[in-house]
Amino acid sequence: MEASQRDRRCGGRPRREGDGPPGEGDGLRRQGVDPLPPYTVRVSARARRVRLVMSPAEGLVVVVPRGFALPRIPQVVAEHAAWIRRARRRLEQQARRAGALPDTALDADDGLPRWLLLRALGEAWAVGVDAARGRPAATDGLADARSVPAGLTLAGQVWIPAPLVRRGPVGWAPFLRRWLAGRARAGLLPWLERLARERGFRLAGSSVGCPKTRWGSCSAAGHVRLSLKLLFLPPELVEHVLIHELCHTVHLHHGPAFWRLVHRHDPRAAEHRRRLRGAWSYVPGWLRPARSIGPSAADRGMGRPLP
Ligand SMILES: [Zn+2]
Repeated sequence: MEASQRDRRCGGRPRREGDGPPGEGDGLRRQGVDPLPPYTVRVSARARRVRLVMSPAEGLVVVVPRGFALPRIPQVVAEHAAWIRRARRRLEQQARRAGALPDTALDADDGLPRWLLLRALGEAWAVGVDAARGRPAATDGLADARSVPAGLTLAGQVWIPAPLVRRGPVGWAPFLRRWLAGRARAGLLPWLERLARERGFRLAGSSVGCPKTRWGSCSAAGHVRLSLKLLFLPPELVEHVLIHELCHTVHLHHGPAFWRLVHRHDPRAAEHRRRLRGAWSYVPGWLRPARSIGPSAADRGMGRPLP
């Protein structure tokens, strides 16, 4: 068993680990916002009784002996919700110490992100549920500077109205997308405009969008449109994308002259292009298209003129 795994045999008392306030998450459950976490059920010939296992790779797994009444499982999971939350938090702490923060560890049980890690701006925003207008209530207690990944500062908390959270992703995802678009307009567009001024590019205009696969695009008129998903990328990769799009204001193609210009403005362009191919892993799952995105598709999409 990995060091990061935690077992719990049902029937015993939950272990007291002292990490997390008592009653944490109660507010959410009372409102019916946060029912049961997703889990995998595994029937084991060797298991003598039910066990809950939490691991980074698989999340929550419910191991049951053969012949166990499967309809009882939701009840078993519900009874151990407090332990599940503590185990998740321990995994997050371990992931932070290891310098990795898998998306799954950051998302709440219903897929609602707990954090928005805007690496481009060096900001971490905690996500909370606003139970009543003007009265912040239920959170996971994570809006805490100690929980912020290294290199980012706790910028604040984003409150999502509880009715939107109750509707699931169709409720909260558009809300968060609008919020992110605002951060991108405030943080990315001035960056692009400053870069254009400093490097002598003629930028006709700029805007923010949320295209499926492109990080940005540039129109024949010299209007650059940036994806709000850039917010999640490290600053050096964002700057590379900004330079890429600004170079399209000179060359609206991906020919040798275009790449010479890119490399002149970004001496580490080759490294940045390579890293950009894996950069989708920085973007939270709820913002990625349902189908997996090939790196070449994302790369090809860059800088095409807007229709
Ligand atoms: Zn391009």
